[in-house]
Amino acid sequence: MKDTMRAFVAVERGRYELREVPVPQVGDDDILIQVKAAAICGSDVHVYDGHMDPLCGYPVIMGHENAGVIVAKGRNVPERWQVGDRVTSENTIDTCGTCYACITGDYVACESRRGMGIGADGCLAEYVLIPGKILRQVPDVIFHIPDNVSFEEAPLMEPAANGYKAVFQEGRLMAGETAVVSGAGALGLYSAHMAALGGAAHVVLLVRKSTDPAKLEMARKMGVTDVIYSDDPDAALAKVAGLTGGFGADLFVETTGVPAVLQLGMRALHVKGRAVRIAINDAPYGFGLDDITLRSIELIGHMGYNTISWRNTINLARAGKLDLTSIVTHTVSLDECAHGFNMMVSREAGKVIVKIAD
Ligand SMILES: [Zn+2]
Ligand SMILES: [Zn+2]
Repeated sequence: MKDTMRAFVAVERGRYELREVPVPQVGDDDILIQVKAAAICGSDVHVYDGHMDPLCGYPVIMGHENAGVIVAKGRNVPERWQVGDRVTSENTIDTCGTCYACITGDYVACESRRGMGIGADGCLAEYVLIPGKILRQVPDVIFHIPDNVSFEEAPLMEPAANGYKAVFQEGRLMAGETAVVSGAGALGLYSAHMAALGGAAHVVLLVRKSTDPAKLEMARKMGVTDVIYSDDPDAALAKVAGLTGGFGADLFVETTGVPAVLQLGMRALHVKGRAVRIAINDAPYGFGLDDITLRSIELIGHMGYNTISWRNTINLARAGKLDLTSIVTHTVSLDECAHGFNMMVSREAGKVIVKIAD
């Protein structure tokens, strides 16, 4: 194997380059993955556009949604992982292993967690290392890719697993309920798709009127039944009331981070409805929270996924029930990574796949 590899590196705020860096050393407990394909996530874009600095500082290899093949393993790595296995990683590189989040299986919410591309080197590179410590703490930190899922599709399991956890594990959707999902990005569309797979009677997408019609087309393909607009709140609420016999929606999944959208979504819920907030945006919220008290609305924080989210999402993919690729608009090479990021920043692209090796 080579000693060096190409990697897309955030060098400092606003400066990125394709660099030749050393291939990570494989210790006795580690797994080395040759990355075949990766996907660019909205959270990678937060680093790229300078809104967020990597927690581990610069320089850092970017990217966390990945798929590839195991090319080396240390002698202590369990038998279930073999050289040649096709795998996707859920991208956690390190956790403390002892906090409340870790011991209850929600290690993604561990406050000491380091994830690929933000707290540690990521997967927009020819190789990525899965350290032995995390394999011991979270045995399902990597997963075998089902035979019917390609390397270009598998990195999308990561945002899809986020949607799974929001809709089913946190949002507790039941068949026949009505779900409202805000935002037409990857998390919004996969959440809407999960709600449709879960038997929601209506899957309502809440977006701005200016949303690209192509995204609305994708949304319908993925199971959205109705579209409402945040710039026309009265009509939006009337539509939800009409769909639900005047009751209001059961579940709201918020992926935009816009305060007025959270407020509108909560108002679309019936008394005791559930609102799950996936979005990241630390802007102050300019409204009171009496709705939560007086209407017993449950506002649930969402951070990532857990092993159950991943296993069930992979089961859906293996059964051919999951539409992973409708949201993909562009595929680029590792050399064209910056172009891929720029298309995400300008919103010209929906989801961008980076094909790294054949
Ligand atoms: Zn992601
Ligand atoms: Zn922890």
